[in-house]
Amino acid sequence: MQNFLKQRLEQRQQAHLYRQRLIHEGAQTPVLQMAGRTYLAFCSNDYLGLASHPILINTLQHAATTYAVGAGASHLVNGHARAHHALEEELASFTGRERALLFSTGYMANIGAVTALVERQDAVFSDKLNHASLVDAVQLSRAHSHRYTHNDMEMLARLLTQSTANHKLIVTDGVFSMDGDIANLPDIVTLAKQQQAWVMVDDAHGLGVLGATGRGIIEHYHLSATDVPILMGTLGKAFGVTGAFVAGSTLLIENLIQYARSYIYTTALPAAIAETLRASLRLVQTETWRREKLQILIKHFRQGATQLALPLLVSDTPIQGILLGSAEKALMLSQALLQQGIIVTAIRPPTVPQNTARLRITFSALHEIEHVDRLLGALEHYSL
Ligand code: PMP
Repeated sequence: MQNFLKQRLEQRQQAHLYRQRLIHEGAQTPVLQMAGRTYLAFCSNDYLGLASHPILINTLQHAATTYAVGAGASHLVNGHARAHHALEEELASFTGRERALLFSTGYMANIGAVTALVERQDAVFSDKLNHASLVDAVQLSRAHSHRYTHNDMEMLARLLTQSTANHKLIVTDGVFSMDGDIANLPDIVTLAKQQQAWVMVDDAHGLGVLGATGRGIIEHYHLSATDVPILMGTLGKAFGVTGAFVAGSTLLIENLIQYARSYIYTTALPAAIAETLRASLRLVQTETWRREKLQILIKHFRQGATQLALPLLVSDTPIQGILLGSAEKALMLSQALLQQGIIVTAIRPPTVPQNTARLRITFSALHEIEHVDRLLGALEHYSL
């Protein structure tokens, strides 16, 4: 066995696909400390900068006194506290739905929702760039899997028409996590209506960021809850904490409580976390300057990167990709930036398709224009 394990790691290393973790000290903010040196980081999904918000730190400290540290059990056994319940009600109201259901992570929410809703006789239609958790969810569900080329609505229409499945479920990321562009949701909704398909959107990167009031991709496109009956959102990105939820009708949520195995068979999030998330949800709505600041940073970066003729991916969101192609090139550039005190992760296969390795730059409302200028200044030295 040892030989097998060693060989596999060597293969990864030779293909420049080996993953390594950086250990930073202290808080998760754009300016980080590692091994006694200060770094500027552009790889967190803490888009609004709430992870280090004093109100949230204070709320967590107090809530731990009230609720203790661990939930002690799953929601259905004895882990569902008043704070969880209140958060679910507030998330339902925020997303304009009858109900919402908390999950411990977004990965588990996707696995739970898809496997609870479809089975062998059914079919799922997924964008090829959907997040890994959706890909795994479809596999686990055993439904027929049809994957359409990224945002290719003609292909989706064709696949839907050809399918004779019992139920048809379209699943898509709202904002694509490694590219930063957004789904063509209005067309997906129209096709779903024509074909009597259900629509599920994973708005992990849109919620809190997109839309005038941070309600995500649905607000961005002025769609309604009935257009997208299954909405998944995560709480560890723009919300700055951890966890996830699915929002929808009472019937949907009651079904998930009965059938979503990744909801039923796992310990609930600590109630103190739920209480902290309630405060986070308020900040997402009240501190609108954070979304406005993000837009300023994104525009500034894109202008500068365009002037430098960097191979930018098309995106108006805080996820900005610089397409490099080979994993080796992406890794080398990421390491060169690290030496200059800048952390930008190299994203390589299998996270992205072969030959589309890239640098994935993410912005937070806590970044400053001068941080963006430092990044651009560092990138200027390389011919990309
Ligand atoms: N969906 C998308 C689109 C994501 O990017 C992620 C996290 N990277 C997830 C789901 C999983 O969320 P979590 O980190 O809460 O498990």
